[in-house]
Amino acid sequence: MSDSLSRLKTRMAQINCLGQATSVLSWDQQTYMPSGGAASRAEQIATLSQIAHERFTATETGDLLAQAEAETQGMDPDSDTVRMLQNIRRKYDRETKLPADLVIELARHSSLAQEIWQQARKDNAFAAFLPALEKMFALIREAAQHLGYQEHIYDPLIDLHETGMTQARVAAMFNELKPELIALTRAIAESSHKADDSPLHGDFPVAKQAELTLKFVQALGYSLERGRQDIAPHPFCTHFSRDDVRITTRFDPTFLPMAVYASLHEAGHALYEQGSPPEYEGTALAGGTSLGVHESQSRLWENLVGRSREFCVWAYPQLQAAFPSALGGVSLDAYYRAINRVEPSLIRVEADEVTYNLHILLRFELECDLLTGSLAVADLPAAWNAKMQEYLGVTPPTDADGVLQDVHWSGGLIGYFPTYSIGNLLSGQLWQTIRTALPDLNAQMERGEFAPLLDWLRRNVHGYGSKYLPNELTVKATGAPLSSKPYLAYLKAKFNALYGL
Ligand code: ZN
Repeated sequence: MSDSLSRLKTRMAQINCLGQATSVLSWDQQTYMPSGGAASRAEQIATLSQIAHERFTATETGDLLAQAEAETQGMDPDSDTVRMLQNIRRKYDRETKLPADLVIELARHSSLAQEIWQQARKDNAFAAFLPALEKMFALIREAAQHLGYQEHIYDPLIDLHETGMTQARVAAMFNELKPELIALTRAIAESSHKADDSPLHGDFPVAKQAELTLKFVQALGYSLERGRQDIAPHPFCTHFSRDDVRITTRFDPTFLPMAVYASLHEAGHALYEQGSPPEYEGTALAGGTSLGVHESQSRLWENLVGRSREFCVWAYPQLQAAFPSALGGVSLDAYYRAINRVEPSLIRVEADEVTYNLHILLRFELECDLLTGSLAVADLPAAWNAKMQEYLGVTPPTDADGVLQDVHWSGGLIGYFPTYSIGNLLSGQLWQTIRTALPDLNAQMERGEFAPLLDWLRRNVHGYGSKYLPNELTVKATGAPLSSKPYLAYLKAKFNALYGL
């Protein structure tokens, strides 16, 4: 290995350690830290982040990178080394394109705006949040100009979260989805089959829930020697290496699905990180390649596996045995229908598989209009409510249940929402491929055997770490670029049957 390449790798490994230490502090903040620790924790995290950013964007990093690139010219373009240098280059160019004062201003404003948003949501007062949100969009527009783009101001912003994705490609996928999802949602709403989710409400002691969710995620293949599950108000997955990947969940003693599906979802993220190749550890090739691909893994285990009838055949008797008073008299079929109830609703994070992507579509369209200036931030609540009515047939009674529900915009995460839908679509496309590759999958799931499925994902997704860009990985794993068709076909087959359409 050349001297500059090995020095660059050492430098990147150190920067990586700073990032992982920051993640430990953040995990602790969201799980065990007493509330009194908030101010000093914010200081600690900001300091570590700043040191990491300074080290990464330093001229020395740029010089080592340029030397390593020159020395590896002519190398196999698909080799780990060339791919690793490309990943570093992409990140380095992004982070050095933004002027330091804009980075600081964005960090400062997002922490302030999140506080203002929290209060505004509590008070149901969009007007109180308006100036902060206007300023956020102005700053993000400025950042997009620095990052540069050819076609659409959205392009450099979505690229930050999903490398290689563009506004035009997202719009094309949504154009295919939109009429079909609206039609399916309406047909279900008008169907005479009414799903009843009352079996999911009852007495579900938390200790039993904790025991069972842990049992379920271990059955999927999540290793507790390299992970653990704790409680957090907003469930998440974080990792400090491939051998320490942690998940969190939350329990509602009167509503079963919250913990079960939060655990399956976060375990899906965790399995991806635990499956990152050991030889990539500490390099720019380690871990999941994008938010969208990550979400494809969490959604696959949560929905395509966890909400399937086959999974219920295995899991439901265990749930019944654990909660005899609530579920003793509820049939498997009634349970399966309850966890798959479709209901147009106001809140994205509570949405079912059919309506979820309409919530994302709405946000994507509004973000585009706000960034291009065809919609004024002041007119956002009215535009939000009109689209909710048009797509989902419901109008939020308050802004707290409407435009103020998500934290993302206050934190400067604009161009982020589509990654949720990309994840859903990719989960459907992977599933289609997997069903052909594993003809016994249904019977395996009914027996609680998830090793063949995990093994397929390890070989075709997890084992690449972040060597390939999301679109490359999609083609490698499924033989085709991302499309909305497999996911739509999955939804139609499942919900047409459930609702007798
Ligand atoms: Zn997720």
